[in-house]
Amino acid sequence: MEHHNDDAFGEASKVIAGGVNSPVRAWKSVGGNPIFIDHAQGSRIYDSSEREYIDYVLSWGPMILGHAHPEVVTAICEAAQKGTSFGAPTHAETVMAGLICEAIPSIERVRMTSSGTEATMTAIRLARGYTGKKMIIKFDGCYHGHADSLLIKAGSGVTTLGIPGSPGIPEELANLTLSLPYNDTASIEKAVERHASRLAAIIVEPVAGNMGVVPPREGFLKKLRELTSRNNIVLIFDEVITGFRFHFGGYQNLINITPDLTCLGKIIGGGLPVGAVGGKKEIMERLAPTGDVYQAGTLSGNPLAMSAGIVTLQILKSKITSFPSLANQADGLCREMESLFSRQGIAVCTNRVFSMFTLFFQEGPVNDLTSALKSDISLYARFFHVMLQNGIWLAPSQFEAGFLSFAHTSEDMDKTLNACAKTLRTL
Ligand SMILES: *Cc1c(COP(=O)(O)O)cnc(C)c1O
Repeated sequence: MEHHNDDAFGEASKVIAGGVNSPVRAWKSVGGNPIFIDHAQGSRIYDSSEREYIDYVLSWGPMILGHAHPEVVTAICEAAQKGTSFGAPTHAETVMAGLICEAIPSIERVRMTSSGTEATMTAIRLARGYTGKKMIIKFDGCYHGHADSLLIKAGSGVTTLGIPGSPGIPEELANLTLSLPYNDTASIEKAVERHASRLAAIIVEPVAGNMGVVPPREGFLKKLRELTSRNNIVLIFDEVITGFRFHFGGYQNLINITPDLTCLGKIIGGGLPVGAVGGKKEIMERLAPTGDVYQAGTLSGNPLAMSAGIVTLQILKSKITSFPSLANQADGLCREMESLFSRQGIAVCTNRVFSMFTLFFQEGPVNDLTSALKSDISLYARFFHVMLQNGIWLAPSQFEAGFLSFAHTSEDMDKTLNACAKTLRTL
């Protein structure tokens, strides 16, 4: 059944709040009505009028193997034949947990959830239960899902809409969350010194991806580890984006820093709704039923989700040696795009960490939210729309990461660069 796109959004808006089930999908920051998708395959995504785009959003990160990977699809179908939910344990959950613990050694015990939000929400509750303290620190521009305590200066979605916090979050709770500038070692030292006896946790995206890509400065994460270890504060790495994005494991493995708790999501679900929180046995065993910190989920560890996640992680494990070439491909793409921009006399600042990247429409450098916000978002909006007309699907906001998948080919890179050159001539 083909739907004309404007009809589709109009129709949706009559029955879905704002026409979308997650705000960034509504294209508020770039304008226009969102395009509705019919299907996707590999690096390509197709709208409801059968137009094809090369996809650099990849469902906001999860689809690292490309869309509808045949082995993942088969696994889901086979699992579905056996029943889609039991509300009782399955062996698949043990296999999934085993893969996660193997890949990320700081995770001694794990609990599966149905979203990244549930994972970070649980991590915060655990940290509070474990330390008996209430305050948490996060960083401006980092997004950790939409749980109340974490929705303070929370990156792309809220930045795009220009709202710092959110009505509906009681002041009493918001006051327990301190948000500090990312990469600012001096301010975190001062805050910990002042509040150590009240601080339950510091939560951080080890590579920020929700204000656009912002890598950690040398020493920043190490400082967080030192301060938290010294003051009985739980260090939480939110690796919902970065987990399995750079290699078979977390960013933490690459920098040799061991957080107390880690949150995962996106890639580990292979495109199904999955999250996970894991870490030190001593902390994790505080969760019910062994402990007194409650957490649950009717569909947690769901057989379909586990089947997609297990196959995805197994394939990624078999691709350990291919991750560097994925990063090289991203590097090549970013460099070529940069030179196209510079030939056109348009300033861009590229932040790239392996296969995730953002071209900020400004001189840069971009190392925190304040600097990210200097970008020319109206120019980005024009770029976004013309790229789309030229068959390239970018994030509908400047403050997002672009991603490559293993399904992207050198032909995709060439097409993207041609589209970019064409687009820039019209800006
Ligand atoms: C996407 C994201 C989340 C939230 O995950 P959901 O599955 O959307 O709830 C949490 N943290 C980070 C870093 C994310 O990028």
